[in-house]
Amino acid sequence: MHRPETRHRGGLPVVPRPAPGELLGAWLLRSAEVYGHSLPTLLNRLGIWKDPPGRSRHWYSMNATNLKFDELSCAVRLSVSELSAMAPATCAPYWPRELGVCYRCLVGAATLDRPCTWQRCWMHPLATVCETHNTWLDPIATATMRRFRSAVDFRGLCTRLKATVGPHPELPPGLEDALWLQRLSVGRGDAQPPWREIPVKTFVGIVEAMAGLVRHGEADSAAAEAFIDRDLLDEKTVTLQHASDPPTSVTLPAGLRRRQRLLGMIGRTLRAPGHDPRVAASLIRPLAAWRAADWPIQVLEWVCPQAADFRRRDAELRRELGMTPRYFSASAALWAALVPPADASSAPTEHNSRSQLFRSG
Ligand SMILES: [Zn+2]
Repeated sequence: MHRPETRHRGGLPVVPRPAPGELLGAWLLRSAEVYGHSLPTLLNRLGIWKDPPGRSRHWYSMNATNLKFDELSCAVRLSVSELSAMAPATCAPYWPRELGVCYRCLVGAATLDRPCTWQRCWMHPLATVCETHNTWLDPIATATMRRFRSAVDFRGLCTRLKATVGPHPELPPGLEDALWLQRLSVGRGDAQPPWREIPVKTFVGIVEAMAGLVRHGEADSAAAEAFIDRDLLDEKTVTLQHASDPPTSVTLPAGLRRRQRLLGMIGRTLRAPGHDPRVAASLIRPLAAWRAADWPIQVLEWVCPQAADFRRRDAELRRELGMTPRYFSASAALWAALVPPADASSAPTEHNSRSQLFRSG
């Protein structure tokens, strides 16, 4: 249990001004540096750790689950709502193995002799693109982030990234599509979906269903294996929750490059569902069957009109006939007509939709 050594009832005399979009924990690291303290020492002295302790006390995960925001607000003279806006979502049970960081943002600050700051938006597992530079984020292991002890470590990282990161021949395609998906799923609100707006949680559920379609697709396809290989086993389910928002679970590759590749392809399929007829055909049966059971109908109509039509007609039959043998045979006939028999041999099924999605990139 952490006990405060002294309480600064009057607040800290000086704190740095938070940079636009700065992550709360990163700003606290910079504030601790002003006083020559480590972050845990500063927080102990201010008496703002919560008891019992939250799941994680790492600098990057500091939010209202592990800090007393009312007391922090008095100490640093920022309102609780300002602190909440800087805090990351809770990510349970663990953060993904890799997150994204923009080395151009870090290097840019260092070059202009401004403080290197960590952006809150980098902490979202569905964030894959830097919106400032319109480039893919660079991978950073959360194990590396855990070792940071002060804001000086951001500069050290910046120097290392400068030496190692640059034009990369194997960067995944689909940056614009992943950026579109990111704006909708991270809740930035400035992207225009082709359907009437839906809650962020619903959109993340759609991304999760599409990722599931890829995950449970054809396991024995050599082409799919070439894309997915060992990282298929390196997926993690995380539950995200920010403030009073409802929690959202999503299962994604733990490595950033795989996540970028996958989200780019899912983004493309949701944004322009007809771009590849093979992909469009591969989606019909899984979306009609169950993948899209709780999607808003306008989204399903956009992504896969045939699946939306099946759902509507099947519901009509059920209303008309009840759960009777007549309904089941009529529903089976409707299902059989989803993909015309003449195309059945060549049309992709749910089982090869993963390879179709991945080939489409
Ligand atoms: Zn950037």
